[in-house]
Amino acid sequence: MPVSPAYRPDPRFFDLGPDYSDAVKAADFPQTILRFRNDRAAAEVGLETLSDAEWIATFGRFDPLPGQPGPVAMRYHGHQFRHYNPDLGDGRGFLAAQMRETPRAQAASDRVASDSAQGRLLDLGTKGSGRTPWSRDGDGRLTLKGGVREVLAAAMLEAQGVPTSRALSLIETGEALERGDEPSPTRSAVLVRLSHSHVRFGTFQRAAYINRPDQIETLIEHVRSLYHPEVAPGDVPGLMQAITAASARLTARWIAAGFVHGVLNTDNLNVTGESFDYGPWRFLPAYQPGFTAAYFDHGGLYAFARQPEAVFWNLTQLASCLAVVSEPKLLADALNGFGPAYIRELRAAFLMRLGVHSLGEAADQRLVDTTLALLREGGEAMRWEPLFFDWFGGFASSARALSGPRAKLYQGEAFDAFRFALMEHEPDRIERLEHPMFAAREPEEMLIDKVETIWTAIAADDDWSPLNAKLARLEAARRAWGFDK
Ligand code: AMP
Ligand code: MG
Repeated sequence: MPVSPAYRPDPRFFDLGPDYSDAVKAADFPQTILRFRNDRAAAEVGLETLSDAEWIATFGRFDPLPGQPGPVAMRYHGHQFRHYNPDLGDGRGFLAAQMRETPRAQAASDRVASDSAQGRLLDLGTKGSGRTPWSRDGDGRLTLKGGVREVLAAAMLEAQGVPTSRALSLIETGEALERGDEPSPTRSAVLVRLSHSHVRFGTFQRAAYINRPDQIETLIEHVRSLYHPEVAPGDVPGLMQAITAASARLTARWIAAGFVHGVLNTDNLNVTGESFDYGPWRFLPAYQPGFTAAYFDHGGLYAFARQPEAVFWNLTQLASCLAVVSEPKLLADALNGFGPAYIRELRAAFLMRLGVHSLGEAADQRLVDTTLALLREGGEAMRWEPLFFDWFGGFASSARALSGPRAKLYQGEAFDAFRFALMEHEPDRIERLEHPMFAAREPEEMLIDKVETIWTAIAADDDWSPLNAKLARLEAARRAWGFDK
């Protein structure tokens, strides 16, 4: 197995033992056709040197990587749409491996004191790799369309500076799947993602539910030492505060990106505040607070503007698990940090998306408020992504925005207020505007009709070129926005 010297196995979740996961085997697929390999992500863990044949053996047939104990299905519970479900767990995926990221791979802007010199601990997690003890009535499979959608969501979010898992590999597996929500039979695939922890809020909920405070203690120390080492050993409220802060940052960045995750259950939020597990996600076309992604979310519980509330509610569930072994009052204080942290992070996220420097709390907040007001007043014509694209860099983009295809939208009171608030702020790394992306008339968006167009080319003609072209443009966008450092 020609892994590169950068490959450093460190299977720490596996070390927790059989109380937290179950050894499983991957399904034996009739075919393994490589559809997507993310060499940039692979290079961050020393796997880009695999030949295609070795890649398929590793991520399609799951031949073991060196130094890894073999796949385990992780145990967890969770609240789904606020109803507790103890019958969850990895039902169609597993933790395949854990390894260290090369330290230089990490974005400087996201580097925090806790990221030790040895690099972050990353997981290879699968989706669609076969049945497990937690599959219930499910087939353990992933549709090819579901796999393509996860590849697209992760690439778009990464390009927009949202902390996200990356899709590492997508391999078509040659089975015919029956699904209620896709024309069936439909094609199958196995996805491998690279993620900064798959320990979910629901991992703690399971330990609480089965009345095992010792397991809660073990998980606390596991998560603290590996993901939040700036927190002192035994400081459980400190850990709650760290997870709350990371979750607030994530939520703020989703909002600034116009992203609707769709299924914010406690089994879909992890302890590092990294977004993962993309199912019915959508990006907002325009300002629609009630915009809902999942067709089965009848009440709009996880609508766009309700995401902060949903994440906070999930954090309260995590806190109630930690309260089994810690002081509830201190945990409540940590939890109550969510609101202020979210508001702070929202300001930072808008500054980031508009490419301008902070000018202090009041001016930054004016920029958030006037941006949202302009989006609201603009209705459907004022699409979300183009506003950030047109005005990226503040006054440095004035001429570009006012002579561009949306020039006629930029007038009136709401626009004047926005422009005034924006022009107060200095551009941040103005040289980014020299990237050719900013010479284009349209930004990279990820609206549902385009996603369907990309899928239709694959489904109807086995034409992968629209997907590959989109991924290439998203990679260019990531560099243009400056997330390649
Ligand atoms: P998700 O909505 O993807 O977060 O999944 C919720 C739960 O359902 C998890 O326990 C999954 O492992 C399980 N699940 C979803 N789809 C399947 C499937 N096709 N086969 C087995 N388990 C599944
Ligand atoms: Mg999930």
